[in-house]
Amino acid sequence: MTERVAVIVGGASGIGWATAQALATDGCRVVVADRDRDAATERASALGAPHSAAWVDVSDEPSVERLFDDVGALDIAVNCAGFSTLGLITEMPAEDFRAVIDVCLVGAFIVTKHAGRHLRAGGSLVQISSLNGRQAAAGMSAYCAAKAGLSMLTQVAALEMGPRGIRVNAVAPGFVHTPLTEPAAAVPGVVDDYIDNTALGRAGTPEDIANAVAYLCDSRSSWLTGEVLDINGGAHLLRYPDLLGHVTRLMDQAP
Ligand code: NAP
Repeated sequence: MTERVAVIVGGASGIGWATAQALATDGCRVVVADRDRDAATERASALGAPHSAAWVDVSDEPSVERLFDDVGALDIAVNCAGFSTLGLITEMPAEDFRAVIDVCLVGAFIVTKHAGRHLRAGGSLVQISSLNGRQAAAGMSAYCAAKAGLSMLTQVAALEMGPRGIRVNAVAPGFVHTPLTEPAAAVPGVVDDYIDNTALGRAGTPEDIANAVAYLCDSRSSWLTGEVLDINGGAHLLRYPDLLGHVTRLMDQAP
């Protein structure tokens, strides 16, 4: 993978940061792009030259357009931006639902659009979808809907960009220990419930996901497109943890 240019959106933390490191190790020139400008700068300097940092917010289309215009021709784009909320549909303000869709689905569309204009033939675009794109979780309607939509967006983009020699795939992680999942992991029972509902008996690491992304970005996967790869220790074979139930029990116990 020498001399290939890779942009990692949401690259300053968790899965994105592990992916940035994996692709740098594979010989790519990495642009760590994130809405946390300081963290992106810190990460890029930890990687050293020729890697660089950029600011981007996927919910702000001009910033995404500027990012990819500035980078110019590229070989790899990975979109890791995302977050979730927790709440019952009957109690959720529509703006909370919209906020998640805006980043996880519309943001992914915007990254696909502008990365897609600059990806060279032979290039690869990878989205980070989720186990929740196929497995429902009470309290996570916006996130589940956004990630299910992202899985289908990936397939449509693969169809549209295939004739230009560009592959588009997604990785759908199960529960991975990152800053995003720290609050959920701190709720008693959540991680154990996840582990009890996997075949391999453990939660994931950012590196588990980064390894799969790196595979989707290099020539070993050159005939693979439009795929959503489940990386979850076999959690899709069983049921999603009762996150809302564990949180409700914790709140009921609070003084
Ligand atoms: P993370 O540690 O929070 O990393 C995500 C990074 O993306 C953060 O630096 C975050 O910045 C940035 N970001 C968030 N919104 C953004 C936006 N609008 N524009 C640009 N950057 C933005 O989370 P992670 O666990 O690595 O998650 C990465 C992706 O994997 C997400 O799409 C998530 O839905 C997906 N995923 C994660 C898991 C899991 O168990 N961890 C499971 C399935 C899927 P801030 O810190 O400022 O928010």
